[in-house]
Amino acid sequence: MKIERPRGTRDFLPEEMEKRRAIEAVMRRVAESYGYREVLTPTFEHLELFTMKSGEGIVEEIYAFKDKGGRDLALRPELTAPVMRMFVNECVGMPKPLRFYYFANCFRYERPQKGRYREFWQFGVELIGSASPLADAEVISLAYDIMKELKVKFDLHVGHVGLLRHLLRDLEEEVASKIMRLIDKKDVEALESYLEEVGVNRDLRDSIFSMIDLVGGREVIDSAREIIPDFDFGHVERVCEILDALDVKYRLDFGIARGLDYYTGIVFEAYAKEGLGAQNQICGGGSYRLAHLFGGEDTPATGFALGFDRIAEICEVRVEEKRKVVVVGFRGLEKEAFRIANMLRKKAVVVTDVMGRNVKKQLSYANDIRADFAVIVGERELREGKVAVKDLRSGEQIVVGLEELLNVI
Ligand code: ATP
Ligand code: MG
Repeated sequence: MKIERPRGTRDFLPEEMEKRRAIEAVMRRVAESYGYREVLTPTFEHLELFTMKSGEGIVEEIYAFKDKGGRDLALRPELTAPVMRMFVNECVGMPKPLRFYYFANCFRYERPQKGRYREFWQFGVELIGSASPLADAEVISLAYDIMKELKVKFDLHVGHVGLLRHLLRDLEEEVASKIMRLIDKKDVEALESYLEEVGVNRDLRDSIFSMIDLVGGREVIDSAREIIPDFDFGHVERVCEILDALDVKYRLDFGIARGLDYYTGIVFEAYAKEGLGAQNQICGGGSYRLAHLFGGEDTPATGFALGFDRIAEICEVRVEEKRKVVVVGFRGLEKEAFRIANMLRKKAVVVTDVMGRNVKKQLSYANDIRADFAVIVGERELREGKVAVKDLRSGEQIVVGLEELLNVI
């Protein structure tokens, strides 16, 4: 009986894995160059970790289950809450700020489509302990550098959830949250009808719609000021100053609401310009407060998560090709072939026959797997301490001493 994989999951064959590992290596290198160090949390957590403040959106998408002890658990849908739980449990004594990064799989019960899976990977960072615009600027710059380094074409939008929250401050929390989620989904019709339904007055309605239309350069701060004159734009302006000084290209976008409820300040998103269709958001992040909810001191933090699978889909990295050698042994010389293969592994990827094939078939397999060289181990040459080396690209064949072999492949 053939068994299919579960819906929304994928198998990754070697070629794809090599590409994914190459992308991952770039992400790690850039994050580490900023002083971030890797952490890893469990694949499953107590369900309440995610229901506490992640917002309704994520609850519907959670893979939740009871274990044999009757505990409510969930496969992680994201890593910010787990990392902050870990911070509260394990890291309070450590010198601040803390710079963590992670690369791990996440699980969401979503409708699978291109760029949207039920198991997917996120690469993300959390900078814990600072509420300064400097911290926001650092993580934005880091996300930007990673995407630049990977040569993906993207638009970076930077906003501040404080503006919309300020507008919605007199509404019930639940209503405000729902409005934020509709804004996040860019579902204008649903937003219109919900605002009507909860009886939001005309002025507020107009302010909301004007605010979410504010996308552009520094000048949109002036337009936003007209809508909410009593909001302090100092933090946003400082982040802009630093990003400008670093030559980070971005647009201000005060319509960014983010799907999760825990964001408190600067928020940002990056959208791929091509190759992904509707699922084009490749990065989301911002500043948030979670530590106090998990029993710790109220601690500011800021971070982002890159959608690894979406980036892998559009990113053309060069995978470094290692030299490949097949050691071909005549019958009876398997031990010698194995020994020579071991010696060559210092320098190349080396395989030997494990099928009991004759020399001709071994050579044809070497061609099939596109090896660069075949090292042919035969009785007569071996007696003189030599082997034949065939360059499979040119077809040229030479006989060399074993001590020289490492130099010719
Ligand atoms: P979307 O609006 O596309 O559902 P999101 O707001 O739910 O994204 P986040 O929770 O911010 O996404 O996660 C960060 C990144 O992870 C996203 O920008 C996206 O690239 C990626 N991502 C989220 N959900 C999925 C999924 N189901 N499959 C693949 N990648 C995903
Ligand atoms: Mg989503």
